[in-house]
Amino acid sequence: MPDGDNILSGNSDRAKKASPLPTFLLDDSPIKEVHAFWLAGMSCDGCSIATVGAKNPTVEQLVTGSIPGLPKIILHHPVLSVTAGDTFMKAYHDARDGKLDAPYVVIQEGSVADERIAGMFGGYWSGMGSRVAADGSHQPIPTAQWLKDLAPGAAAVIAVGTCATWGGIPAASGNVTNAMSVMDFLGKDYLSALGLPPINVPGCAPVGDNVTETVASVLMFLAGVGPLPEFDELGRPAWMFKSTVHRGCVRAGNYEEGKFASEYGQKECLVELGCWGPVVQCNMVSRGALGHNGGCMNTGGICIGCTMPGFPDAFAPFYKRAPGTMVSSNLSRTTGSFVSYLRQFTQRSRNLAPQWRQVGKVPSGWANVSSSKGSMDAVVGFFYDKVKQIGTEFTPGSSRQKALQRSASTFLSSAQEAQRSDSAKEVS
Ligand code: SF4
Ligand code: SF4
Repeated sequence: MPDGDNILSGNSDRAKKASPLPTFLLDDSPIKEVHAFWLAGMSCDGCSIATVGAKNPTVEQLVTGSIPGLPKIILHHPVLSVTAGDTFMKAYHDARDGKLDAPYVVIQEGSVADERIAGMFGGYWSGMGSRVAADGSHQPIPTAQWLKDLAPGAAAVIAVGTCATWGGIPAASGNVTNAMSVMDFLGKDYLSALGLPPINVPGCAPVGDNVTETVASVLMFLAGVGPLPEFDELGRPAWMFKSTVHRGCVRAGNYEEGKFASEYGQKECLVELGCWGPVVQCNMVSRGALGHNGGCMNTGGICIGCTMPGFPDAFAPFYKRAPGTMVSSNLSRTTGSFVSYLRQFTQRSRNLAPQWRQVGKVPSGWANVSSSKGSMDAVVGFFYDKVKQIGTEFTPGSSRQKALQRSASTFLSSAQEAQRSDSAKEVS
């Protein structure tokens, strides 16, 4: 573990000279650099695209080491790195052979295919770099082999995207490659050098910020400047995947009021079009897809459960609504129509300035504003006020409030009278 005093009190000449006030130099972390080896298995590269769109933190902040306390990341990425060929692969070989001389993490995008199947036909499913075979030829090294070789020495293995976390689309029904997740491939007993099972950041594609924030949190722990982040029972960052999509959805109020879209493009809740948001754990709509913009329901799309184990089979066919909605949406429709009326009543009859309420109309030059919709509103209004007044004497316009105002007014008048009489005495 790092020397906490050294990290927090700034045990350096710079800190001593600067000021008598306490100085915090988080960049005094004992770990300055961490290598990140990105592996792409059975993937579409969408996770890479999502990650480079992250804003909080950005990839640029991570690779330039500009976040206080966080080690600088040396990123080895098959698409983003500017080197290629043997020069690019050298660090992978060094890490595998124990010659890297720096801690590293492995980030896997895409599921892990069963290379034994491809091997039977003399091929491979996904590979990176090459090795010299017995016959002197150069043969590709499967990325599954890299994962197997690099995982034991890694500070952490981070599976990014649903293919890497649960198997995803390559592992769906009809899977000929026997594609599987990183945790299925490494096995239940796998622990990283830091003692962690694989960390899972699902999503197809994942929210970019979820990826970079997880990497940053793990590195802060590695550097000794942060606690071990909270992970749930499936190794997901708990604070990101605790809640359902539905709880953060911009359309949740419509669901509650029993208002459902019957076709795409409408603004109501999409559950009857096939949205699985009520049972899916994902922060997409509250965080936004890229740069805090977009996100499924924000832009009119249904939730197809892409962050969940079992995706896509568990949620297909996507054009059919979930069986549970036959109960839940009909219940919402029944109760929601009354809830909706009550809310509109409150807005119509109570969101009025006191003067408007007294005269019973709104002097708006913009439109005719009606504060009542007849006898139903009158009856509801009567009970509404009764219920609102239960348990308190201090409602606006109540006899208690008027008595208090009279008493305050009497007190002020007598105080003013006394002041006037004192002033008159001083003059005389
Ligand atoms: S659109 Fe989906 S997530 Fe949003 S309120 Fe409706 S069911 Fe819930
Ligand atoms: S809201 Fe649903 S479909 Fe959209 S990213 Fe989250 S889990 Fe996937």
